[in-house]
Amino acid sequence: MTERLYYSDCYLREFDARVTETADDGLRVYLDRTGFYPTSGGQPFDLGTLGGVPVTEIIDEEDRIAHVLAAPLIGETVHGAIDWDRRYDLMQQHTGQHLLSAVLEELFGFKTVSVHMGTGANTVDIATSSVTEAQLATAEERCFEIIGQTRPTAITFEDAAAGLRKESTRSGTLRIVSIEGVDRSACGGTHVRSTSEIGLVLTGKSEKIRGITRIEFVCGNRALRRARADNQLLVSIARTLSLPAEQAPERILALTEQNKTLEKERLRLATEQARREGAELYWKTVPDANGLRRVIERGTIDEGVRNKAQAFTANEQAVFLAISDDPPSLLLAASQDSGVHAGNVLKAALTEAGGRGGGNATLAQGSVPDAAALEKVVALLEQRT
Ligand SMILES: [Zn+2]
Repeated sequence: MTERLYYSDCYLREFDARVTETADDGLRVYLDRTGFYPTSGGQPFDLGTLGGVPVTEIIDEEDRIAHVLAAPLIGETVHGAIDWDRRYDLMQQHTGQHLLSAVLEELFGFKTVSVHMGTGANTVDIATSSVTEAQLATAEERCFEIIGQTRPTAITFEDAAAGLRKESTRSGTLRIVSIEGVDRSACGGTHVRSTSEIGLVLTGKSEKIRGITRIEFVCGNRALRRARADNQLLVSIARTLSLPAEQAPERILALTEQNKTLEKERLRLATEQARREGAELYWKTVPDANGLRRVIERGTIDEGVRNKAQAFTANEQAVFLAISDDPPSLLLAASQDSGVHAGNVLKAALTEAGGRGGGNATLAQGSVPDAAALEKVVALLEQRT
């Protein structure tokens, strides 16, 4: 049984303990007591050092807590030091989560169903199919009000806990974390002493997931950093657009629309040009003894080549073959009167070379696995078209 020192003192940064057992060649260590918090209840594990060795993970094994280390630990007694910046940040997030959950329930009756805290954005899942921007703003302001009231938080151990925000599934003595006059929750996590230390609760985007709503939030110094980063982003967007930030959304929308129009126009012109090239190429190509005009082009097979090939074969007695080396693929176009059924001829050649594809009488496309197969198809097509 590991005594959890953080249960009664969340501000304990260093401690001494006795090693009770080691496993994994000294990489997994058990102590008689610990100040390290293991991943539990949505709060991630602490980092730090144990006997000077960096901790990589803290695991809750119910009765005991396993300390996973970066190198084997030597000695019977050890000194533990918790990475305080990380832990204090998580204490701000976790207490802020209790506050946000309590406020969402108080204001709108939204019940918290699960929470997740990490080193990026935290999330709280609430039992409602939608939440508005205005509701989130109201909740942030109510949190801000309570933070300003410097309400103390307390840890108590209760056998018959009543008035909890969420009924506990555990039996026996419960650890109750309360924010005076605001919240009472059964929780094993680490929290700050007073709401003032939460500093700020800032919500982010919310999304609907299978009937619940997931709300992102950050608290404390992390919220300050987020607000600063958001502001820098806005300044940089405004600078890029040479506009005041508040005009940026409208301009971005206008630019997006303009881009769509230009892209449509570009496509129209490209199609027109490809068709013209196809037609010109036809008249430049000398027909063979049977009056058939044949062209083979190597390059990329794209919409432009397709248009060019179709324009070429829109004329009498014409066959157009496009070959791409990377990826190995082909396009075959044939005029109605050419005597070549593009789909059938290409499909047959592809099948013989281990490729696949097909099409109709005038246009067909396909691919082959490699360069050798490509040359085989080209040779077959040269005989048959
Ligand atoms: Zn908690």
